[in-house]
Amino acid sequence: MKDVESERIRNTRFSVIGAARSGIAAARLLAGAGGHVFVSDTAPPESMSAAMASLSQLGIPSEFGGHSPRALDADMLVISPGVPSTAPLVRQAIERGLPVVSELEAASWFAKGTMVAITGTNGKTTTTTLAGRMFEDARRASVVAGNIGTAFSEVVSTLTPEHVAILEVSSFQLDHVDTFRPKIAVLLNITPDHLDRYEHSMARYVESKCRVFARQGRGDVVVYNRDDEVTRDAVERHVPAGVLLLPFSVTSTLSSGAWVEKEAVITRVAGQRTEILPTSDISIRGTHNLCNAMAATLAAQVLGIGPASLRATLRNFKGVEHRLEFVREVGGVTYINDSKATNVDSVWYALQSFTAPLIVLIGGRDKGNDYARLEELVRKHVKAIVAIGESAEKVHAAFHAVVPVEKAATMKDAVSTAAGLAVRGDVVLLSPACASFDWFTNYEQRGKVFKDLVAKLPGAAA
Ligand code: ADP
Repeated sequence: MKDVESERIRNTRFSVIGAARSGIAAARLLAGAGGHVFVSDTAPPESMSAAMASLSQLGIPSEFGGHSPRALDADMLVISPGVPSTAPLVRQAIERGLPVVSELEAASWFAKGTMVAITGTNGKTTTTTLAGRMFEDARRASVVAGNIGTAFSEVVSTLTPEHVAILEVSSFQLDHVDTFRPKIAVLLNITPDHLDRYEHSMARYVESKCRVFARQGRGDVVVYNRDDEVTRDAVERHVPAGVLLLPFSVTSTLSSGAWVEKEAVITRVAGQRTEILPTSDISIRGTHNLCNAMAATLAAQVLGIGPASLRATLRNFKGVEHRLEFVREVGGVTYINDSKATNVDSVWYALQSFTAPLIVLIGGRDKGNDYARLEELVRKHVKAIVAIGESAEKVHAAFHAVVPVEKAATMKDAVSTAAGLAVRGDVVLLSPACASFDWFTNYEQRGKVFKDLVAKLPGAAA
């Protein structure tokens, strides 16, 4: 950290909002650097005894069960990933002109080494995990953090200048960055999803995503999806001067970046053309995963990982749980868990990823989905739909004129209905296009329940 920064931290009173693991890690970092830190959380003290113990051990004052005026008696608010920008306290701070930064921003002040920040509406976890695997397989010192299990604050102090930190970054965290400057910013796509958080303004959502590269400069790189018009436009118009652009495309041949030629992935980075591998050798399937693979490959190549190592990783990486995850084959029917598909766009890609006839489980807590966009693909690839969850009626209304739609009252019912409809050669796909909070705690639980039910299907069911 630069001297000016450590001095700034020593002279700042920070209010850290949220005392889960990442909030505590941020508080520890800031207090360790001499900052005046106070932690505030609305959770009742009874449920936060571990947090209270760690904070008192660190000598950091805190409050639980609500925010007192002391929470705003600070020079800067640091918000944990779980605290929404719409939280009343955050709003009040903004109204008072108090700077509000995300835990990611605060952690980045302490970062040694090279940061790679991966963002986009869909594909962040897959691309981040894959990029992480590329560095690991190449035996490079690296950490994977951010939105993906471990907060950056928790690991940032373990970094050396040789480390690469691969960060999954949500637009929510980007809303509150200021000086965050990754060496490589990866922008996978920008499609309407969390528009509710941006007062339904696509322009504001795009603006938030653009903050990933806003502080970049000479020597930095933006890897981006040139096939997605919104992304392309945002990057090409707003990227700061001196930043190297590395686009990727599955539809056009490019002069730099990554593209597909004769069914192989080709890259050109720093003037060097490399044939990476045939697309059919990439383990994760579907056009969207080809995009994710190209994005991770470019980031890794920029940081010096050679093609032989990249090839091996791309052949071996089987994807992340709940993202088009193979579950089981029963009587010639393949079951796929894509529970993480919580929006229409992910389902659009999922439907494209198969040539076999599909029976798709769709529905859950609807976020204002427009299913019209899926109609053509459904007509082409889908044999039947099993409508699930709260939005079963809406799903039925959207598709019953296109394909047969059966409504299911439980996931168990849905799996047995799908199994009953499937014949040898078909694929049963859970790709709900909706949040899971109607029937489940989260998408992971929804996926697990689906997988357990599939595991119990009798071998002769199909
Ligand atoms: P995120 O972390 O951005 O939510 P994930 O990698 O967890 O992304 O994938 C979420 C869902 O989106 C899954 O259903 C997955 O199959 C789909 N998906 C993955 N990559 C892409 C992409 N590049 N474009 C569109 N959909 C994608």
